[in-house]
Amino acid sequence: MKKLVSLMLIGAMAVSLVGCGGSKKGETVQEGKLIMATNAEFPPYEFYEGDKVVGIDAEISAAIAEKLGLELQIEDMAFDAIVTSVTSGKADIGAAGMTVTEDRKKNVAFTDTYATASQVVIVKEGSDIKTPDDLTGKTIGVQLGTTGDIYCGDIEGATIERYNKGFEAVQSLQTDKVEAVVIDEQPAKVFVEQNEGLQILPDKFTEEEYAIAVNKENTALVEKINTALAELKESGELDKIVDKYISADAE
Ligand code: GLN
Repeated sequence: MKKLVSLMLIGAMAVSLVGCGGSKKGETVQEGKLIMATNAEFPPYEFYEGDKVVGIDAEISAAIAEKLGLELQIEDMAFDAIVTSVTSGKADIGAAGMTVTEDRKKNVAFTDTYATASQVVIVKEGSDIKTPDDLTGKTIGVQLGTTGDIYCGDIEGATIERYNKGFEAVQSLQTDKVEAVVIDEQPAKVFVEQNEGLQILPDKFTEEEYAIAVNKENTALVEKINTALAELKESGELDKIVDKYISADAE
């Protein structure tokens, strides 16, 4: 009897392991769902409107889910938890204004890109930092685990202060705890608009591209998403979503 019970237990464990693998070809973690990991502190790509996560990534992912016949479920987490969530099979996709980097490619697969982006430098008006080259030796606020964080590590003599949320770095700039913030251009524009006395330097720090992260094993899902993305680009739907959140004159 004991043996039978333990055999049944092993059987149940095997079933649940398969159930939460989420990396099987073309399948998703939960049947009928597309689970998106994101960090909803990144306007206009993902942010809260009431208790709902909205933004460019939320809408593009919803459009992709619809094409795949799946229901989108958004999970909000720290930015540096997103890749792990995809590799461990908790989420199907990471859609978070995520820049494609060679380092991240070691852990996740990326879909085709859907936006070009850049890191910019925010300073207080009148700052002696006039170009990214002036960041040498300065105290810089970044968002933990982002490309801003990674690339600022190469600046000579700079002290890097890491925050979980981009706007926390901006608050620190307001209170002179840091002398500059390096962050993605579109959220930078939103933060500068919301805060008096800040400006974005005209020279960009980096040029980058955003894509959706998928479990490396799940090549079929990458292909399905790429097909959906191509259709959304072709039909103009993708541009429409971007235009809804980024006005042309703010470019
Ligand atoms: N584009 C940046 C990165 O990929 C920041 C993304 C974010 O903070 N959501 O690291």
